[in-house]
This record gives sequence, C-alpha cells and structure tokens, in this order.
Amino acid sequence: MSQRLQSVRGMNDILPPDAIRWEWLTARVADCLRRYGYLPIQTPIVEPTPLFSRAIGEVTDIVEKEMYSFSDALNGESLTLRPEGTAGCARAVIQHGLANQNALRLYYMGAMFRHERPQKGRYRQFHQIGAEAFGFPGPDVDAEQILLLARLWKELGLSFALQINCLGQPEERARHRADLIAYLEKHASALDEEARRRLYSNPLRIFDSKIPTTQAICADAPELPDYLGEDSRAHFAGVTRILAEAGIAFTVNPRLVRGLDYYNLTVFEWITDALGAQGTVCAGGRYDGLIAQLGGKPTPACGFAIGMERILELIGQDNARGEEAPDMYVVHQGEGNGERTGKLAFQAAEQLRDAGYRVILNCGGGSFKSQMKKADASGADYAIIIGDNEAVAQSVLVKPLRDAGREQEQVPFPNLTPFFSHHFSHRKN
Ligand code: ATP
Ligand code: MG
Repeated sequence: MSQRLQSVRGMNDILPPDAIRWEWLTARVADCLRRYGYLPIQTPIVEPTPLFSRAIGEVTDIVEKEMYSFSDALNGESLTLRPEGTAGCARAVIQHGLANQNALRLYYMGAMFRHERPQKGRYRQFHQIGAEAFGFPGPDVDAEQILLLARLWKELGLSFALQINCLGQPEERARHRADLIAYLEKHASALDEEARRRLYSNPLRIFDSKIPTTQAICADAPELPDYLGEDSRAHFAGVTRILAEAGIAFTVNPRLVRGLDYYNLTVFEWITDALGAQGTVCAGGRYDGLIAQLGGKPTPACGFAIGMERILELIGQDNARGEEAPDMYVVHQGEGNGERTGKLAFQAAEQLRDAGYRVILNCGGGSFKSQMKKADASGADYAIIIGDNEAVAQSVLVKPLRDAGREQEQVPFPNLTPFFSHHFSHRKN
C-alpha cells in the first residue's frame, strides 16, 4: 500500500494567499532596511556543522538538540541545515574579508531549521529576516538597529514591548558566573535535572528555565548588572540615552539572557502577548567576540533576527486584501475564426502587461458563458471580451465586473492602454 506523501512535520507549505502576504512583508522589511544602509547578503542553507557548534556554543538548546545535521554521503563531512543566520553571515564576512576595510551593514532573509516540538509560532522550518552590523564598537549602532525596528513595527501597524539588558564582557560574566555557581550549588538539591546539568556548563541559561521551583531559586540569585564594569555601564547608558532621546519606550530586564552564547553587552527582545506562549517576535544584540572566535580579525558586531511567521500571524489577512486578484481577465472566442480572436486576445493581454497590469488570459477554451464565470471568479475588476465582431473591428469590449453601475464599453484596440490608465489612475503606474 502506498503511503500518502506529506510535508515533513513542522515544515509547512505556504500557499498563494499567505505567500502573497509573505512577499508584501519581505518587500516592506527590505525597504526599511535599505533606508538604514543595510545591503542584502545570501549565504548557503547548509554549512559545516562546526560553524554552528563554535558560533552558537556547544551547551545551547540549538546545538545540543535542535540541529538537523547529517554527514555528506561523498566525504563524510558533517553538515547542518542552518538553525540561524548570524553564523553563516559571520563566516562569509571572514571568508571574503568584508569587514577588513569598512564597517558594513548586511541583512538576510530565509529559511532556518530547528528540531523543536512544532506548535503555533514554533516550526521546524521557519523564516527569519536578520540584520548584522560589523565594525561598529559604540552603542550608536545598537540603538540605531532598535530605532530601525521601532520604525518597521510602526510602518507595519504593529506594536511590541521592548526589553533590553546588558550582558557585559566575558570577564564580568565570568565573575558573575563564579558567584552564581556558588549560589546555585547551595541550592542544587532543589534544582530540576536540566538546571543541575547546566550548573557548571552554562548556568546563565538556568534563568531561562520555565520550571517554577528553579525559577524561585533564580529569583534570589546574584544578578549580572551588579558585576558590570564602567565601560559596560557606559555602553549601556549610551544605548538607553539614544532610545530615550528618540522617544522609544523600553524596559530593562536584568533577567534577559538570550539562548545563544555569542552575545555580549546589549541584548534585546521585542515581545507581544498577542501570540500566546511564543511571544518573542524579534531578538538581537551585540556579539563582539564572534568574528574572532571563528578565526577572523576581531570585529565588533551587532544584529537581530525577526521571526517571519510570528509577524505574519499578527499582520492577519487585511494587508494584502485584493492582491490575489488580477486587474483584467481576457475572455475570447471566435465562432468563425477562433485564430483571429485568439491573436487579438494575446495582443491585448500583452499590451496591458506592458503597462504593468495583472492580466489573466483565458487559456483552455470554453464557451463565453463559462469564460465569463471564470472571469468573475478570478476577482478581476474588468473582463475584456473579444469575439468575432471585435476581431473584425479591431476593438474589445470592456465590461466592469465589480462596479454594477457602469456600462460595458467598446474600446478600439489601439486605445486599450490609455483607456485603463484613465480608469486605473488609483492603481499601478
Ligand atoms: P525561543 O525562545 O522562542 O525559542 P530563540 O531565542 O530560540 O526563541 P532566536 O534564535 O533568537 O530565538 O530567533 C529569533 C526569532 O526567530 C525569535 O524571536 C522568533 O521570533 C523566531 N523563531 C525562533 N525559533 C523559531 C521557531 N522554531 N519557529 C518559528 N519562529 C522561530
Ligand atoms: Mg529557541
């Protein structure tokens, strides 16, 4: 018995109505990024596995349990479907020497893969739009990225809460970490198993725990902000000052740590309660150590990633309404000489497409009646009707489909585009 073929669990088809909204969103985000000087970069979906274990950190959810890794059948090299975009971006920057002379701003969009439990807002193939700025050590670029995102949400008609925190520098984290481990050791018997396992490998991640007893212990644990030195504090003060000057509301959350190891100094998340459990729509921060850690010349860096599916869920159906429908549907049938009507139909459709209209040409024949039904169902604003009489007169019949008050009109073929540029002044061109 043959099994029904289905998409892989947690990996979804995006069908035309949603895919149209998808394109609408990506175009808007790209436009916003370009206004801040970010340029697009595309990196492969598959990378060598060590890139991710080195960049993201061995003791992280992603590297420990979420990666789709496999060995290349030809040479046995371990490869991984990218779980995020920063590591590949950083690799490309090093490989091509992009950050050697100039600071640069890059953005990417595309599919990411994580082996998680699929649920609303959490998939195994999902999509991110991310931006990375390389070569800027100061707090200005961190703040500028947040301004960019605030503008983007406003342009999309969305509203999110901003949480920020300062993770300091590795030495500061080390001192905090030592005290934290000492504190957690005292309470080890009350911690859950995963927290105990992480006690020495990645104790900061214990703050991410969703388990109440562990959370309760975390509530009294030593906090990182108390360990920050002057430079870290000054950097953070720089970020918050620019945000305040720009009128951007934020909450400092000293518990915000982020699931990836590579962050330092600024980290931030944009959060909504409109999505249930999966409330983070965008996360980012500074990762000054990553490029050097991957073998490049030390280069400060700061970036963020937006979860596309979560944003699309919030944008809903409204924004791309009517986008599916063509502008015109060309109906054509010749009793005596179908060839002549067909030729005129092709010419009319091409002429209108030249002018930027979306035109569906009836393909596959059918009676006038059935073609008119299809025209109506297509959602087109106009039917363009071409029969024998029209072919002889070199004109077409334009029938408004959505505007009951308006009469159909005979339009001479050469005047077709001018006719529509008059009627469609509110649309294209
Ligand atoms: P979470 O805590 O929700 O697992 P994360 O810290 O793993 O998030 P990041 O790696 O920072 O997430 O990714 C940035 C954004 O990408 C998230 O804020 C979210 O919007 C989105 N995202 C992450 N994982 C998924 C997923 N499995 N499915 C859909 N979107 C995701
Ligand atoms: Mg995650």
